[in-house]
Amino acid sequence: MPKHLHAHPIDAHRPDTSTAPNGTISGTYRRVVVRRVLTRPNALLARRSRDIDPRAPGVVALAEELVTTMRASPGCVGLAAPQIGELVRMFCVDVTGHRKTKSCAGLVILVNPRVVERTEDVVMREGCLSVPDFTGDVARAATVVVEGFEPGSSTLVRIAANAMEARCLLHEIDHLDGILFTDRVVDPEKSLFARKVFG
Ligand SMILES: [Zn+2]
Repeated sequence: MPKHLHAHPIDAHRPDTSTAPNGTISGTYRRVVVRRVLTRPNALLARRSRDIDPRAPGVVALAEELVTTMRASPGCVGLAAPQIGELVRMFCVDVTGHRKTKSCAGLVILVNPRVVERTEDVVMREGCLSVPDFTGDVARAATVVVEGFEPGSSTLVRIAANAMEARCLLHEIDHLDGILFTDRVVDPEKSLFARKVFG
């Protein structure tokens, strides 16, 4: 049997990154599978996810799959575990380089997150990998403080965020409660916009 047929099965699901300039997947996550992202109206997206022990087996591996899946989608700034079919309270966010970013903590992965402070709402356009056909205008707190655990750690971390980063944190926490941005648009008649499709 040729040697390559002995490769670990997970390699069979790896995207072909051999032609990607610089690769969209860092070396750290190179062996991690990119998961399929569920889209509306998949019923799992409407379920409430459960708290997990951040140090439980598999939590760090799931975090790596979340990050890898987020990185594999150009322009994606956040992804929550239920979007890949795992109903546990974990998400990742990274708004680095986005044009609407002010505060930026870089890559943030939180388990059992909760909002501990928030200010008044502002309206901003947002989108979601699970809602591929639309963007929408949604009112969310302008600034937030969010606490949660890092995967594999029992240390509570606290993120103070504004602008794009605050919006993303709240959007991802909503996913953990089974809420999509389409449930929150300012005006269901006027606040959803078809995404432009090219080609
Ligand atoms: Zn989303």
